[in-house]
Amino acid sequence: MPSALTVIRVAVPRPLHSLYDYHVPEGQELPLVGARVRVPFGNSRVVGICVENDVKEGRIETKPILDVIDQEAAIPATLLDLAQWMSQYYHHPLGEVLATILPSAARRGSAFEIKALPIARRWLLKQADFKNPRATRQEALVQWLGTAVTEATDGVPEEAILKAGFTRDVISRLVDLGVLEAAPEIEPAPLQQPLDPTPAQADAIKAVRDSDGFSIFLLEGVTGSGKTEVYLQAMAPALNAGGQILVLVPEIALTPQTLARFEDRFGRTGMIHSGLTDQQRLQTWLRCKSGELTILIGTRSAIFTPFAKLGLIIVDEEHDSSYKQQEGLRYSARDLAAKRAQQEDIPLLLGSATPSLESIFNVQRGRYRHLLLADRAGGASMPSYHIIDLRGQTLHGGLASSLIQTIREHLAASGQVLLYLNRRGYAPTLLCQSCGWQAVCPDCDARLTLHRTPAVMICHHCALRLEVPNHCEACGQGALLPLGQGTQRTEDSLASLFPDVPIHRIDRDTTRTNRQLNAQLQQIHEGQPCIMVGTQMLAKGHHFPSVTLVAVLNADAGLLSPDFRAPERTAQLIVQVAGRAGRAAKPGQVWIQSHQPDNPLLGRLIEDGYAGFAKTELESRSLAGLPPMHPMALLRAEAENQALAQAFLANCKAHLEQVQVAQEGGPEARVNLYGPVPAPMARLANRYRFQLMLIAPSRNTLHRLLQSLGHPRVPAALRWSIDVDPYDAL
Ligand code: ADP
Ligand code: ZN
Ligand code: ZN
Repeated sequence: MPSALTVIRVAVPRPLHSLYDYHVPEGQELPLVGARVRVPFGNSRVVGICVENDVKEGRIETKPILDVIDQEAAIPATLLDLAQWMSQYYHHPLGEVLATILPSAARRGSAFEIKALPIARRWLLKQADFKNPRATRQEALVQWLGTAVTEATDGVPEEAILKAGFTRDVISRLVDLGVLEAAPEIEPAPLQQPLDPTPAQADAIKAVRDSDGFSIFLLEGVTGSGKTEVYLQAMAPALNAGGQILVLVPEIALTPQTLARFEDRFGRTGMIHSGLTDQQRLQTWLRCKSGELTILIGTRSAIFTPFAKLGLIIVDEEHDSSYKQQEGLRYSARDLAAKRAQQEDIPLLLGSATPSLESIFNVQRGRYRHLLLADRAGGASMPSYHIIDLRGQTLHGGLASSLIQTIREHLAASGQVLLYLNRRGYAPTLLCQSCGWQAVCPDCDARLTLHRTPAVMICHHCALRLEVPNHCEACGQGALLPLGQGTQRTEDSLASLFPDVPIHRIDRDTTRTNRQLNAQLQQIHEGQPCIMVGTQMLAKGHHFPSVTLVAVLNADAGLLSPDFRAPERTAQLIVQVAGRAGRAAKPGQVWIQSHQPDNPLLGRLIEDGYAGFAKTELESRSLAGLPPMHPMALLRAEAENQALAQAFLANCKAHLEQVQVAQEGGPEARVNLYGPVPAPMARLANRYRFQLMLIAPSRNTLHRLLQSLGHPRVPAALRWSIDVDPYDAL
């Protein structure tokens, strides 16, 4: 091979830690670093990323690249840096990291081309009595338009028609027949003016605006304190300087009001979330990359969007668990936001009413600046707390008598009531009354949850669905008794306790689509007395001005969990649910049902508030040698063969211990290894799961030790992973 050939180094989208060298055939242009290239790999061709285009000491034998896809870098330099950092930090192959960063349409190698935005057309129905028995789709559309949307005087968006399952073809035929007509364009609503900030808001806004280059702010603001207004006004200098803004939110469906506020203030904003098609996602990605879009609001993966000139990153509800990816590349979008802000030399604004202990710790050690909004904007007062001692009480559908009485009073005073229960379905257990047998999932170490309407047993871990048994599978005799409360059962009980009151159940079973959720929310926002019962979908983001009573029906699940993060999570949840109450003129009450009324966590939370709780909890984390002071990683392994999974981790442990013995340094420099032990869900989807926990005195020792694992070869029947900073340590 002539030595004059240019050799490039390519990251391929495979779970392999090596990079691969290829040469550029004569006459072929040289790909830029960050460009996508098509290369032969094994027996196939793959789309990889060129990470070096001037390899001096490449291997002698290299295959030629097939094709250079991009004339410019698909992955700009800052993102490539971020990818390299992630690969090291999360101990994950660079090729797979890059594949995660690219939108899937780009991964397949299609050329980057920004398409003109479709015109947002709306259609008016001119002939509601149109009939054509030979064209049933046309009739169906006319009927759909006639019934579903009689109120829409300025026309029905074409998007909604397509979503309902009608084609453009049907629309255009009806247009030709004069049955449909394009609606006149609507004048865009004038943009909303900034609110007059409260003094606390003004201080926070000024701090962010005055920051020069990289710094991180933690905006801790009680629910309803006006954090969004701070975000909106803090954006001004970046926008004025022609910069772009990235706003991360936990889940788009749960934060419609936040989104609406950005749009009302700035007009069109881009959005990236799981509801988009691959093409829509790619188009938004490209518009950010080119600089055309100035504001992007997105969920977790939006942190990987390239920007022409990023000026500020905002992470709303920074404590939210959805920022942590729990499979594959287990990254934290919040932590990556910090890294990215540092690379781009721009400010990062984290906001929450209940900040993560990680972020509070970073304030304590001077890494983050603390901004506080201690009071609610607009004068609403904070809710009062009451604990209901469940011991020795007979419950009615999971509700204590005193709670039922309180619900009555609030409804009578025209208030709305929100009941939180983190368990969907009817009952979490189906029990044989004579022998004690319980319906369990055949593939997991878990009970099946009984669902009604439709009646089915569902495993909430592996999603297996089975028929409801009509007799005990062990003794064949006893009657089967549903035990415990799910949201469906509570809804039933409420319906018989309060027959005249509308009841809205809001959980994943009732809100499969955004439309369903929005329809329910709209009714609630009309403000009539009603009862909402739901899972954490209700706890997040929403602003329910008429809610005066919030109840947490079962606080014990969180209080009793052995996970070291359980107290933090439970406190966040209670404060967040409580934050839905009394956000307008009416003061709110929060009732908490527990068998542990004297639980110190509850007491501290109620007496000292979240900040006081967090301070004490950080002290106990420190004493126990846990994160955030002591970084943690989990090695997980799973296989159908129990011994295989366990032995793999036992070998890892033996290896790591040897490495530590060979290293210099006293016991205080040692990483502690715990396990391997069965995971709390020891068998899931018919695979046995084990874990080995590492807790280190410092980041460096943790990473050095993980590095020493190398890349063990494993049998195909075994899956294993490294989770750095695991969220679910159990
Ligand atoms: P948070 O996100 O902190 O829970 P929001 O941003 O939802 O709080 O604000 C709560 C309510 O207070 C909203 O209705 C908002 O319009 C209002 N609000 C915020 N800031 C101000 C202000 N400076 N003056 C008047 N109303 C405000
Ligand atoms: Zn039985
Ligand atoms: Zn299962």
